[in-house]
Amino acid sequence: MKSCIGSTWCRYGVQDSTALAIRVEERYRGLRAPHKLKSAVSGCIRECAEAQSKDFGIIATEQGWNLYVCGNGGAQPRHADLLATDVDEATLIRLIDRFLMYYIHTANPLERTARWLERLDGGLEYLAPVVVDDELGIAAQLERDMERLVASYACEWAAVVRDPARRRALRDRAPRGDRRPAFVRARGQKQPAAVGRRHAAAPASGRRPSRAATGCGSRARRRAARRRPHDRARRAPRRRLPLRDSERMVCDARPPARTARTTSSGAASSARTTARPRSPARSTRRPSPSRPARD
Ligand code: SF4
Repeated sequence: MKSCIGSTWCRYGVQDSTALAIRVEERYRGLRAPHKLKSAVSGCIRECAEAQSKDFGIIATEQGWNLYVCGNGGAQPRHADLLATDVDEATLIRLIDRFLMYYIHTANPLERTARWLERLDGGLEYLAPVVVDDELGIAAQLERDMERLVASYACEWAAVVRDPARRRALRDRAPRGDRRPAFVRARGQKQPAAVGRRHAAAPASGRRPSRAATGCGSRARRRAARRRPHDRARRAPRRRLPLRDSERMVCDARPPARTARTTSSGAASSARTTARPRSPARSTRRPSPSRPARD
């Protein structure tokens, strides 16, 4: 059930949509139906709760409530159809009882109300007389069925909490004592750690476990992961290519030259280091033609 804030908090509201939403939610909670049911209540025609895209939606008017049925969002959206106009609250609940019970009795398993109405022979022209005018004479039966369902509701969560055996079964999976959930940060947000690292032992001080303790996201691990490809490249044996004849002659004639730097003047620098042997009287020699003399 979705609700807008209604006349209690909104200046446009003409009815108390929040109170009605609570009443409807408490009436139909836990209902077993062929598929999930979505509903909404809007406090005025501006429709902030989007009631016309729900299985049943209610929109407040000056005179009462409008009831829409068989809307849908998702992959196959469908605008809901208006079933009743300006009805009071008691009539509204009665019509919803009949509509839901007729849907539960006649829909296929896993069939949403929108698809059910499209399949129904005659569509809304058939459904409206059955629900509103009781054309088939089954309205009283539908209302009784719904009353029985509403009366049989029991909170399944509360049943687990009150049952010691079922509580014990769940306790094994819950964090306890010195163990508590561990979190990691992803994209600047806190999120539970991966399965298997969920619970890190809390230190005796009671402070939250460090990232190193949870094994997730420690700075050292991230650094190591970044270094790994370079380490592999460093350890790999170097390939030695066979020398060409011209290179072999140079290498035999003199000790290997220092590695030439690859710069914007790389060609000139390379020629200097490979073609000219180093001279001890370097400071006194004349500048080479390829390198202009500095003033
Ligand atoms: S639907 Fe109307 S009453 Fe409800 S929040 Fe929007 S404007 Fe306000």
